[in-house]
Amino acid sequence: MNNHSHKNNNDEINLIKQQLPDWLANSRKRCADGKVAGYIPELAKANSDSLGIHIIDAAGNSITAGDCGIPFTMQSISKVFTLLLALMDNGEDLVFDKVGMEPTGDHFNSMLKLELVQPSIPFNPLINAGAIAISSLIKGENAGEKNNRILDFFKQLANNDSLAYNDAVFQSESHTADLNRSMAYFLKDKGILRGNVDDILNVYFRHCSIDVTCADLARMALVLAFDGKDPLSGIQHIPRRYVQIAKTFMVTCGMYNASGQFAIQVGLPAKSGVAGGILTLVPGKFGIGVAGPALNAKGNSIAGVHLLETLSQNLKWSLF
Ligand code: GLU
Repeated sequence: MNNHSHKNNNDEINLIKQQLPDWLANSRKRCADGKVAGYIPELAKANSDSLGIHIIDAAGNSITAGDCGIPFTMQSISKVFTLLLALMDNGEDLVFDKVGMEPTGDHFNSMLKLELVQPSIPFNPLINAGAIAISSLIKGENAGEKNNRILDFFKQLANNDSLAYNDAVFQSESHTADLNRSMAYFLKDKGILRGNVDDILNVYFRHCSIDVTCADLARMALVLAFDGKDPLSGIQHIPRRYVQIAKTFMVTCGMYNASGQFAIQVGLPAKSGVAGGILTLVPGKFGIGVAGPALNAKGNSIAGVHLLETLSQNLKWSLF
């Protein structure tokens, strides 16, 4: 990096530091128009007024605002990283035998296209059907071993040894997930899933239930922002090609069926989860974690999306 870009980066960081509290306070007002997810009963306990953000750069400078210390479960955000692990375990050819590369335009837990479009493979790895297929591809002798490998991988990327499963959320989802169960049995019938369906769902529900804070999401996003290499440790965790695949899915399918709108309004690769988290990144610059449990009608954090729109528009972050 030359002196000029260093200066630009510092100017940008100073501007963010100055403005972020106001931008966050303004976005927080949107919480009132959203609703906390209730279909997993344990998630309904979250505070719908909360909003937090953590931004980290390659030198380890962190800028935070709002309620960023509150843990929440990754939910669908974990799908980006199980995809990466499945690619590292199996290579591209095998992974894309089981999942497609296209957005659906349907709800994340819809089964509609599975039967409608042949062959019956899930459209992409970020919808539930696709992520369940990906869970079945993680290497390991049994569910416990797969779960340990996933958690270890996430700990390395977040540089946080204390990441753990949230058992209450795991149990809550396991007891209410009839739709995901029916989807998994359908996929087994079609030969997409091999092995014991309960074990595969155990792996899927477990990785959705990993507790993180905005700081963890930001650090994991930083690795993606630098093509798989953590700029703080210098460790190349993931091959660049696989990060390219994951980031492309984040642009086309990462924000449910509001991914097109998010690409137009924000223009960054991102993935959201039903607990209200959003992981996003500015390539070569920042990793960002946002949390705001009140969701809009498409299932994305309503205040979180507003805050990212504000940041992207003021700092000209859109890639397009
Ligand atoms: N565990 C959640 C489910 O399968 C994840 C959904 C999400 O965050 O989109 O319903």
